[in-house]
Amino acid sequence: MAPLSKLKSRAKNSVTTAATASSQNSTAPLPIAKSIDAARTRAKNCEACDLYKHATQTVFGEGARKPRIVFVGEQPGDQEDQQGRPFVGPAGKLLDTALEQAGIDRAKTYVTNTVKHFKWEPRGKRRIHKKPNGAEIAACRPWLDTEIALLKPRVVVCLGATAAQTLLGRTFRVTQSRGELLESALAPHIMATVHPSSILRAPDEESRHREMASFVADLKKLAKFAK
Ligand code: SF4
Repeated sequence: MAPLSKLKSRAKNSVTTAATASSQNSTAPLPIAKSIDAARTRAKNCEACDLYKHATQTVFGEGARKPRIVFVGEQPGDQEDQQGRPFVGPAGKLLDTALEQAGIDRAKTYVTNTVKHFKWEPRGKRRIHKKPNGAEIAACRPWLDTEIALLKPRVVVCLGATAAQTLLGRTFRVTQSRGELLESALAPHIMATVHPSSILRAPDEESRHREMASFVADLKKLAKFAK
């Protein structure tokens, strides 16, 4: 077995190479692992950007083996970082509720993030979410491309602007085009909607209720893919 330092170096090199290839390719990028389990194992040692230095662990995607729907968020949060699983914190619980209201079984889907390590800044004793930058998103892109390429979902759903602008282009605006089913080289369909954390940040109960209803309405458009 190769020493850990060599494994880390290999993971870093393979991700960098794939990042370059995928950014130059207008068709669906090739996966950099043969299976999701192999990708998850390799991603544990990824050092392709600096985010691994201050996070607890890589938070890879999880879900059904053959999902029809893949949800892509931004990055793990505090609880996801500690548990090593995506969408298990407050935003994940809100997603669960919205999926239930839309008639979609989360167990039949796959959930992941654009960036696999938690980026944060200290505020007192708390770790506050910090948005990943373009270089970090580009470094992590091969893992996301690999998940989508191996899982072959019928629809990819971008939750929030970071995922949407990563997969649909920097000029894409969730506020203008949310809920629209679009064509993509990554999957037969791609759709963007808000990130559930934005609903949690709504200033009052009335707007939170309204935002939740819009989110569920977007998700209901996916119900036909979930069957
Ligand atoms: S955020 Fe992504 S690219 Fe950066 S170290 Fe983590 S897994 Fe690797």
